[in-house]
Amino acid sequence: MKELIGIPASPGIVIGKVLLFLDDNFVLPEYKIDPSDVHIELERLNVAIEKSRKELEKLRRHESKGIEMDPNQLIDIHLMMLQDPEFLNQIKKTIQTDLINCESAVASCSALTVSTLEQTGNDYLKERAADINDISRRILRNLLSVNRSITYDLEQEVILVGKNILPSDTITMDKRMIKGLAMEMGAKTSHAAILARSFEIPAVFGINAITKEVSDGDTIIIDGYSGKVIANPDKHTIAIYENLIKQRLSHDIHLLSLAELPSQTKDGKCLSLNANIEVIEEIDSVLAHGADGIGLFRSEFLLMQPGMIENEEAQFKAYKALLETLGEKPVTIRTLDIGGDKAIPFLQDYHEENPILGWRSIRFCLSKTQIFKRQLRALLRASVFGTMRIMFPMISGTKELEEALAIVNEVKANLTSENIPFDDDIEIGIMIEVPSAAMTSDILAKKVDFFSIGTNDLVQFTLAVDRGNERVAYLYQTFHPGVLRLIRQTIDNAHQNNIPVSLCGEMGGDPLAAVVLLGLGLDSYSMSSMMIPQIKQIIRSTSVYEAQQLVGTIMEYDTPEKIEEYVRKWMNERFDFFSI
Ligand code: PEP
Ligand code: MG
Repeated sequence: MKELIGIPASPGIVIGKVLLFLDDNFVLPEYKIDPSDVHIELERLNVAIEKSRKELEKLRRHESKGIEMDPNQLIDIHLMMLQDPEFLNQIKKTIQTDLINCESAVASCSALTVSTLEQTGNDYLKERAADINDISRRILRNLLSVNRSITYDLEQEVILVGKNILPSDTITMDKRMIKGLAMEMGAKTSHAAILARSFEIPAVFGINAITKEVSDGDTIIIDGYSGKVIANPDKHTIAIYENLIKQRLSHDIHLLSLAELPSQTKDGKCLSLNANIEVIEEIDSVLAHGADGIGLFRSEFLLMQPGMIENEEAQFKAYKALLETLGEKPVTIRTLDIGGDKAIPFLQDYHEENPILGWRSIRFCLSKTQIFKRQLRALLRASVFGTMRIMFPMISGTKELEEALAIVNEVKANLTSENIPFDDDIEIGIMIEVPSAAMTSDILAKKVDFFSIGTNDLVQFTLAVDRGNERVAYLYQTFHPGVLRLIRQTIDNAHQNNIPVSLCGEMGGDPLAAVVLLGLGLDSYSMSSMMIPQIKQIIRSTSVYEAQQLVGTIMEYDTPEKIEEYVRKWMNERFDFFSI
């Protein structure tokens, strides 16, 4: 028995048999060609591209659940890349000038593009590098006529273990047979992780050398909650996990039965529990988990789609569809929060030494006002089709906020002069995610209709800890007294100015933080849909009075460790559920 630890990428526990998925096994033929044979290689390339295109088109017709990300979106990206003239011309030119076979040209051009994209250090471009890898391997497979066996002909349920299971593998795999995923590469935000969550396949990524630790047919346990993977478990361990699976199942069924009940504390305070979404396809999951609305729509993922940022009409249609589906439920749409770790599509060569603190988010929008105005126009036009709220990200002070509000007024005036209807009373709020905004929240509260605390960035900026850096992850502590004081200050200042406060960072969906936030006076929470039932259960079992008592105690403590230990003990005494 061997215990390994990785990154929990998709929740769920599963026990099964290993199928090693080592896709890099094919041998790549490399040889020089005669100038007179160039046309043969070019024709082989065309045939392989056409085969790859047909494969992708076929995949596109596969049914998709589309909870977190519509797989068709990924196939569209791959189809686009497959037909990208720049990429294809580069391969053709390499065949013609280097006089090498088609396989060598595809491999070398893709390696060059991948390494250029990876060197940018930018997460979005790294994902594109993974896509280039993926389509190149598809072309190579078609050149070599190597077929992938995992796709259709699995006869028994397996847990797929590999170095790097690509997003397109995740789409093509027979979901009835693949019960879990474990791989050496990958992180929580990779496409592969997003798709695993969409298909509800438990997954653990980033496990060091797992392909060397297991063989085909070995028994393996994947715990997508904790990131634990146990290879060749003994009978006793299997029995423990079988029991855990049963408990989880009955707990999940019980939690889902709360979906329609109000999020009301024992002493009658009503809160709203909302969902964070990145793509519109998540709406089904939002509704199934009983969300009261959408507390954060990260609109940058919509605007990053090809052609979208320049297209007011396409944006308008997307916002309208979102609002119409949600009916009376409020939808908070955050304006473009691009830059930093989210690449600006038309500025891919743009490089900053310190992008997280650089030209991004509202700063970008205030200097590219055409883009900002176009989004605001689309939003305001769609606002009459439901209950929309607009939210600005990364506001650090009054001047930025006033500039943004002035632009909203200008866009409104233009729409009025063009006789285009919009909701003139639309609520406008800001994210509180920069420490200066939290510290001046008394001033900012007088100028907006609501706050939403973005703890993902607030913790990063308050504690000076890069939220994506594993080496300093131990310092990224939401229960740091500095962070809790800023949250309390923000909530108090909002309430003194009669505006509501939400929290839409990951802390909002953390069961350990739910009662603390209640005690601090939070009005609404926003989180990934699947966490809503559990947070609701906690809220419904607690009174505001109890939560305030808890907060009164922990605010006296001087370290995050003491606070967390106390909160964990407090929660464990009241909730017999192991995830807390
Ligand atoms: C946050 O910073 O807490 C937040 C919700 O925004 P994002 O994670 O998109 O930066
Ligand atoms: Mg943020």
